[in-house]
Amino acid sequence: MAKITLQNLAHSYLPNPSHEDDYALKELNHDWVDGEAYALLGSSGCGKSTLLNIISGLLHPSQGRILFNDRDVTMEPTTQRNIAQVFQFPVVYDTMTVRDNLAFPLRNRGADATYIRDRVQQIAAMIGMEDTLNHKARGLTADAKQKISLGRGMVREDVNALLFDEPLTVIDPHMKWELRTQLKSLHHEFGHTMIYVTHDQTEALTFADKVVVMYDGRVVQMGTPQELFETPEHTFVGYFIGSPGMNVLDAKVKGDKAVLAGTEIALGKGFGTPDGKVELGVRPEFTSLASGEVGLPVTIKRVEDVGRHKIVRADFHGTEINVIAPEGANISPEMNRVVFDTAGVNVYSNSWRVAPKAA
Ligand code: ADP
Ligand code: MG
Repeated sequence: MAKITLQNLAHSYLPNPSHEDDYALKELNHDWVDGEAYALLGSSGCGKSTLLNIISGLLHPSQGRILFNDRDVTMEPTTQRNIAQVFQFPVVYDTMTVRDNLAFPLRNRGADATYIRDRVQQIAAMIGMEDTLNHKARGLTADAKQKISLGRGMVREDVNALLFDEPLTVIDPHMKWELRTQLKSLHHEFGHTMIYVTHDQTEALTFADKVVVMYDGRVVQMGTPQELFETPEHTFVGYFIGSPGMNVLDAKVKGDKAVLAGTEIALGKGFGTPDGKVELGVRPEFTSLASGEVGLPVTIKRVEDVGRHKIVRADFHGTEINVIAPEGANISPEMNRVVFDTAGVNVYSNSWRVAPKAA
């Protein structure tokens, strides 16, 4: 197992990159702590696979270094990095049995036959394929083949890191949950450094200790699920994570006051005079409905009952504000105001969070 350090790392698929936009991965400095489980989360095309493939050695970066426990591996091929990687689509040997597919990485490393037999059995149980161990991989469903790929990724106990690139895409929903749970318990048992790529926030938040959010080739935040929820460092983190995501509203901010389309509200803390494009970010969980003269004037457009609570879609001068109201809340037409709980208000300047000034 290893700590992985990325230094001034950047990658462009172009031969002569000149502009920042030429980089699929913008410059990045980051430590992956030994033994932690990370999720790498972001929408399609934001650079997740590029980053993962650089860590595994399938791709050499155009700039910067990668260290495993302080050893420079930047130019080392994948085989020397001692890493297991599982991809989105199955990579299996069709002519081999499930057993031989699973045993392959162990045989390759010259492991002892008894150990191989026991370990393969254990992995087969984890992926629910004990009954098919002697079947040829050919003819199995894509779903079963992907489980073999996962099993092969998990079979070695002595790897530096386990990398998963959207591994559950072709797996059916029930099994997805099951396998994710297995991966998590594998992590608890062996304490491998794990990096799990996904575009699905639920998958990321349930799997990982730390979530690394990427947007447009950049890591915009690394944090615990709670940190991503409470203090999104970038407006993208705010609206990508959460359901519905954070409300983001144009504002003018001065000290501890904000003005939104002519209405002034108190922020509870001072923020100085942020420049550039200034916005307030408030999660629906930190908003409530009221009537009278407080808060922001709104018109309720729609109320959605989603079981645990209600989502109220309100209009504020042409911008939608989402409010989460308790399940039993009585939402009356007189409610024409939205009030923010100042504990949940973040201020953004050019999409990046402004730290509140110390009182
Ligand atoms: P993700 O895994 O988050 O969907 P990728 O890392 O695959 O994103 O892609 C990041 C960006 O790099 C995308 O704009 C994609 O089109 C581009 N890209 C990925 N692979 C290649 C490649 N082999 N050649 C050129 N461009 C690529
Ligand atoms: Mg990808």
